[in-house]
Amino acid sequence: MTLLPTLALLVLTAEPLQVRVLEREKPQALTLTAERLECDAAPLPSPAELTVGADGIAVKGRAAGRCATVSSPGPSTVTVGELTRRYPGTLAVSVEGGLLRLINTVDVEAYLPSVVQAELSGGAPAALEAQAIVSRTFALTGRNRHARAGHHLCDLTHCQWYRGAEADAAAVAAVKKTQGQVLMVGGIALKPAFFHSSCGGHTSTASDIFHEAGAGPAIKDTTKEGSACRAAPDFEWSWQADRVELAKALGAKPEGDAFVPLSRDKGGRVLEVSAFGKRMDGGEFSSRIGRAFGWQALRSLKVTAEEVENTVTFKGTGLGHGVGLCQHGAMALAAKGWDAKRLLQRYFPDCQVRQVEE
Ligand SMILES: [Zn+2]
Ligand SMILES: [Zn+2]
Repeated sequence: MTLLPTLALLVLTAEPLQVRVLEREKPQALTLTAERLECDAAPLPSPAELTVGADGIAVKGRAAGRCATVSSPGPSTVTVGELTRRYPGTLAVSVEGGLLRLINTVDVEAYLPSVVQAELSGGAPAALEAQAIVSRTFALTGRNRHARAGHHLCDLTHCQWYRGAEADAAAVAAVKKTQGQVLMVGGIALKPAFFHSSCGGHTSTASDIFHEAGAGPAIKDTTKEGSACRAAPDFEWSWQADRVELAKALGAKPEGDAFVPLSRDKGGRVLEVSAFGKRMDGGEFSSRIGRAFGWQALRSLKVTAEEVENTVTFKGTGLGHGVGLCQHGAMALAAKGWDAKRLLQRYFPDCQVRQVEE
């Protein structure tokens, strides 16, 4: 458990985040535009066309050698192929493994609007505010998620979607209204707060699903009318796979039963499974299937399976890992008039919202 006094939290909040951006684009060439650019410490004209050189970054039209790092000390615009993104904060480009590595150093409050919009667009203001508080808590507790690679967060769902300065007025307003607010377990301890698309009627804990501490117990996400997230597009889903292909994806021989859950958590998610006689935990099972068949195949681990002939049919509820805030549940309750504090009290009943920054 991380116990952080208010002073430490203030420092944590003030310290900018280092987010690796556009890694998935595998950039070998890009155009960088900013008010000021630097090649190592020397000024560089903007825009600059950068490519991977033999021993650093090659800048088009620049005769004097390579740059180890090209950086923008202020907001910048990056174009990689068809994609253009604007970034608040500062940006540093270097070369790693034959690709351009981009690190955006950005204040937490400037990072959040894009995250809120990308992760939960179209919700009522209270749902966006709840998302902002959860995402802020996640970011502040997530600085070690990519420690080995030398940065804090990535810009993909592994951490949180982040598209730079791209955010609509509703997302900006939600971040501003909740500025500096985080979730603290018992009002004192900062732990990662997770979120997912829809829980299928019951959430799970971070310790069961990720084997790490997190905010929020497993809760029943129901109202008088049924599951709060029942309007979610993936509330109920099914997916079929060929038995032989499934075994191959799971690294097993197609012998015996394809899917025998050995244990489930309170939320009904599979913690351990025997797949064709091979034991594995739920996380390994879903990531092997995700890699082989795509991440929309097995949409959650709240799932059962049936085999007919050589076809395995999975039937499940909910989308995502099921830990923490259920976004579709929160959106439905916000539409009924719940405010952000009440939403967070539902999904994180062990937490209180605390202000860490004025
Ligand atoms: Zn990540
Ligand atoms: Zn739900």
